[in-house]
Amino acid sequence: CGIIGYVGDRPACEVIVKGLKRLEYRGYDSAGIVTEDGGKLFIRKGAGKIDELTGKLGFLEMPGRRGIGHTRWATHGVPNDINAHPHTDCTGKIALVHNGIIENFSEIRDYLLERGHSFRSDTDTETIAHLIEEELKSSETFEEAMRKALLRLKGSFALGIIYADEPDRLYFVRNESPLVLGIGKGETFAASDVPAFLEYTNKVVFLDDMEYAVITRDSWVVKKLETGEPVEKEVREVEWT
Ligand code: GLU
Repeated sequence: CGIIGYVGDRPACEVIVKGLKRLEYRGYDSAGIVTEDGGKLFIRKGAGKIDELTGKLGFLEMPGRRGIGHTRWATHGVPNDINAHPHTDCTGKIALVHNGIIENFSEIRDYLLERGHSFRSDTDTETIAHLIEEELKSSETFEEAMRKALLRLKGSFALGIIYADEPDRLYFVRNESPLVLGIGKGETFAASDVPAFLEYTNKVVFLDDMEYAVITRDSWVVKKLETGEPVEKEVREVEWT
């Protein structure tokens, strides 16, 4: 299972499909992509292999220069098209991908069902999108809503999150599941593992547990999930080979 995210000037779908191929060694049963163009999210996903899905769903025809890809190894809900990531909230403006397991998801799901949310999939992951949507009702910013929602989760997660109403950024969050940023010139990457973006940049920043990154095409910052305060991070150069 794996995650690859991109913000820059290239067609996001091309970087993402290549990245997903490089993460295939981690194993998966489904794959999916979200991109954003003109403030609209585009989602294509399904069970099966990346090459097959690229042809069948037209991954390489997705518009936009910002997006996130995912390979899934099912833990909650069978491997099928609906359970494949990305998952969205009720408004369809929040989309996210997840590697890991949310242990208290059924509690959270009950809480959200009481508040009128309806769920499409059987995954633990979908509850996260709805929980952020719920927190957004009492938050000043999307980032604050995301933090409040994620602090209620128990379990392991690497997450990639996009919000349609914010034009320029992507969020990546880590707890007990690996995530690394790739810092390019006028483009920024995030992935489960360095080979996913190594052909574009060898400058990397590793996230630690309970940290999240906000990336744009020409900026990145890592913050503590607990407080939202920025963390000093070292940019490392890895070997190109
Ligand atoms: N628990 C999530 C699911 O079953 C994510 C699985 C993964 O790590 O790919 O959909």
